[in-house]
Amino acid sequence: MLNLVLFGAPGSGKGTQSEKIIDKYGLHHISTGEVLRKQIKEGTELGKIADSYISKGHLIPDDLMIDILRQELKGLPKDCKGVIFDGFPRTIPQAVELENLLAETGTELTGVVGLEVPEEELVARMLKRGKETGRADDNIDTILNRLKVYHNQTEPLKEHYQGKGNYMQINGLGNVDGIFNSIVKAIEAK
Ligand code: AMP
Repeated sequence: MLNLVLFGAPGSGKGTQSEKIIDKYGLHHISTGEVLRKQIKEGTELGKIADSYISKGHLIPDDLMIDILRQELKGLPKDCKGVIFDGFPRTIPQAVELENLLAETGTELTGVVGLEVPEEELVARMLKRGKETGRADDNIDTILNRLKVYHNQTEPLKEHYQGKGNYMQINGLGNVDGIFNSIVKAIEAK
């Protein structure tokens, strides 16, 4: 199986590049942000809890996120060729749990695609996305909080994966196809 984590700050292009990787390799997409936004739209209990964190730019607590991931993994088709994890893990406990859950199903992480983009560009991209899509957490106050949370809680994962020899550093600046080509090269060199 080809199991990849798409890793990077908010606005680094994880969603855009996930779609292209899925098209090429026929993988299954698990985007925890998308799962949560769907719950919010449907007005479920989980959606109400999620909204109270997302609207402030905070992370949803690990135990809740890990339950969500477990459910998503259960729903995978039997003939699944692999999974793109987009937006998960975001903390060290989530990363450890992902490794455990994959091991339980007899598979493992192939690699981590780390999209690296300068901060000013991240802010500009999210503001643009907010205008174009109306995504509620793409407003300047929430964006700045999400970046702070990213640096404090998520960025340490880079070192965690580098230590395991799993991290593929990708320059996430430039045109979408050029970035995608760099990702494909890195995956195929694995
Ligand atoms: P995303 O679409 O990946 O940018 O996620 C949007 C928001 O959903 C994040 O800012 C978090 O509040 C929440 N979220 C998504 N994935 C996770 C996760 N793995 N752990 C905690 N919170 C998450």
